[in-house]
Amino acid sequence: MITSNLLNASYPEPDVYNALSMPIYHSVAFEFDTAEEMEAAFMGQAKLYTYSRISNPTVEHFEERIKVLSNGKFVTAFASGMAAISNTFMCIAYTGANIVTTTRLFGNTFSFFKSSLEAFGVEVRFCDLLNMAEVERMIDGNTCAVFTEVLTNPHLEVPDLSLLSATAHKHGVPLIADTTLMPWTAWAAADFGVDLEIVSTTKYVSGGGTSLGGVVVDHASFDWSNSFRLKPIAHIAPQDRFNFKLRSEMMRNLGATMGPQTAYMQTIGLETLDLRFKKAAATCLALAQFLQTLPEVKTVGYTGLSTNCFHKLSVRQFGSLPGAMLTFCLENRAACYAFMNRLKRIRRATNLFDNRSLIIHPLSTIYGTLSEENKQLVNVPDGLLRLSVGLEDSELLKADILQALNKR
Ligand SMILES: *Cc1c(COP(=O)(O)O)cnc(C)c1O
Repeated sequence: MITSNLLNASYPEPDVYNALSMPIYHSVAFEFDTAEEMEAAFMGQAKLYTYSRISNPTVEHFEERIKVLSNGKFVTAFASGMAAISNTFMCIAYTGANIVTTTRLFGNTFSFFKSSLEAFGVEVRFCDLLNMAEVERMIDGNTCAVFTEVLTNPHLEVPDLSLLSATAHKHGVPLIADTTLMPWTAWAAADFGVDLEIVSTTKYVSGGGTSLGGVVVDHASFDWSNSFRLKPIAHIAPQDRFNFKLRSEMMRNLGATMGPQTAYMQTIGLETLDLRFKKAAATCLALAQFLQTLPEVKTVGYTGLSTNCFHKLSVRQFGSLPGAMLTFCLENRAACYAFMNRLKRIRRATNLFDNRSLIIHPLSTIYGTLSEENKQLVNVPDGLLRLSVGLEDSELLKADILQALNKR
């Protein structure tokens, strides 16, 4: 159904040649017949394109398709997932503000909060987002957001989003969630009180790992009237303040716009998202069950396993297939390296949800350059491997794992 609806969504303006897919409008500037028309476009009085850092038809088409999938009210595309995250916080954070979050974060998000934002006087308050009393103690009058990943990478913890949003909303604070690890086709974050979704479309959406991209999906569920940064524009955009500032100020001034070529490739990616996700996630569950049976494997992280401590909550929020990424621990780093070096099908590469299965040793790579103190904070075991499951046959992947453990 989801895929069919998406394939059926049409363009606002048909292409002059009747192209079946949205053409790539690879032009920086758009021309006007008259100076008056040009003025109207620049004043936002006419819906016309002016300059591709501000808007572009191919990128807008991608955003419209994501609206169909996510049920979001506003969707804004960026050059990468990190651009989507940084632009969001540039909109709402200010010197003296704080962000309530956890250390269980994607490496660059952690570093953006800890290094980039703290330099501007934004305080990052790390706490246990699974513990509501602690979250409540952290929130005060200067908290600009509670931020979480819905399935943390690589710890694979699952916060109870309904509880977390109720706690944030009680204090007039929005819940912003990075939903990169669970695609829109599988669940609806807004049903659990998420106000803004941030997604690295580099991952599931692009599919073949073709391009970097990110989106902010605004469900327009949060009332920003008390937001320090958004108050001054209340008269311009009472209904969609956040989205207005994100688009008309951050995107234009910071310039991390998605390019039309990327938008084209990722629009094609969206069309197969549901199919790819179901296949990869089913294989991931099969591999998690298989890894659990191997004595060399100390622990397996996948919330789809009935033995996982987040299983019930994970089923309630995400359904029975919570993604296509799992983690597992071998004896130590040396065992991980030996295993990785013997793999023949599973590829040694970073990225998630490529069509190929990818493996990485997070502590020595993603977290490799962190200070000892920050390494302690993120707490990733030295024997941990992260496997992103692709579209290969599960039996072939199992055989590759067995031979790499020197069992065949
Ligand atoms: C990859 C990733 C990002 C960053 O996305 P980029 O497109 O690489 O900038 C952010 N959050 C999560 C959970 C990710 O996996």
